[in-house]
Amino acid sequence: LVILMILLEVLFYFDYMILNFVFFYIFSIYFKLMIKMKKILLLFLVSISMFFYGQKKYVVVIHGGAGTILKKEMSPELEQKYRDKLKEALAKSYEKIKEGKSSLEAVEAAIVVMEDSPLFNAGKGAVFTSDGRNELDASVMYGKDKSAGAVAGLTVVKNPIKAALAVMQKSEHVMMIGKGAEQFSKNQGLEIVNPKYFWTQHRWDALQKVKKAELKANQPNAMNNHHYPSYYWVDRKFGTVGCVALDKEGNIAAGTSTGGMTNKKYGRVGDAPIIGAGTYADENIGISGTGWGEFYIRTSAARTVAAKYEYQNKDVKTATEEVMLEIEKLGGDGGMIALDKNGNVAMTFNTEGMYRGMVTEDGEITIEIYK
Ligand code: ASP
Repeated sequence: LVILMILLEVLFYFDYMILNFVFFYIFSIYFKLMIKMKKILLLFLVSISMFFYGQKKYVVVIHGGAGTILKKEMSPELEQKYRDKLKEALAKSYEKIKEGKSSLEAVEAAIVVMEDSPLFNAGKGAVFTSDGRNELDASVMYGKDKSAGAVAGLTVVKNPIKAALAVMQKSEHVMMIGKGAEQFSKNQGLEIVNPKYFWTQHRWDALQKVKKAELKANQPNAMNNHHYPSYYWVDRKFGTVGCVALDKEGNIAAGTSTGGMTNKKYGRVGDAPIIGAGTYADENIGISGTGWGEFYIRTSAARTVAAKYEYQNKDVKTATEEVMLEIEKLGGDGGMIALDKNGNVAMTFNTEGMYRGMVTEDGEITIEIYK
């Protein structure tokens, strides 16, 4: 009977439900089990079959940044543009996963769509540093074996998420920065662009606005309680992108890509390329964050969510909410997405809005922006 059960479990895994029952029937006759016994066994088999069926969920969840996103400040046309792009990213990613590709490929597909759009603060739409340049960060992690790759301070690589993936898959390192990371990306045949590619009017205007506020903030008594100059509170529309995917094999991958924060200085690196801060994935859960990076680094945000899930048995929602609360108490803000091995999703944020969306195995896409 034990062998029979093991064989059945293997069949359940492949979803051959009908075969399972035929199999069971033949064996139950063979064992000349009593009618009552058969019923009990049948019930048992149906329940484990449903359990395994439930296990095989595949889901993709994305974010396009959290921040001061208010409906009253958004034109219907712009909102539609965001919705369409998020939808496109989810559709591309879903395609991969449906074909049976790994969650890593699904994460890459979704993030590349958003990196190529000027709407998000990643790739093409990256924000400016204080000296008017664009420095891009990204990271990726694969839950099955906890392999990871990250890049920071890129200025010429069109898709930083691809560079992070290359570091993970083609080098013996986890993190590479600046010129070295760019040289490595070139050697890997990734697309290199002129830094001007990342110039966009709206990000340039945002830099000028923050600089003006910074000037004002440099007046005496302009510091706030958290020892950050008040210009940090001006026009801080985040637009970092991230994705967590669960594939048919039950493996989770997470990735994050960003231009950082407007007016960031002197080689500043945020949480996005830091494994355990902005991105994390293990065999249970995957997380991608967006927000005021310094606080995500200080709280090891993404890894803390995974630890709460694993060691305290917190569900995805509770775990992310608790970490966001910790960030908030320290004076930070933003959001994060999390997805566990059973397909449970959390999209948590403490800002006015977060561009976000998900697609489930039936192909149904949901997109949300505001609270
Ligand atoms: N977390 C990013 C950073 O601090 C910014 C963001 O998510 O918008 O670099």
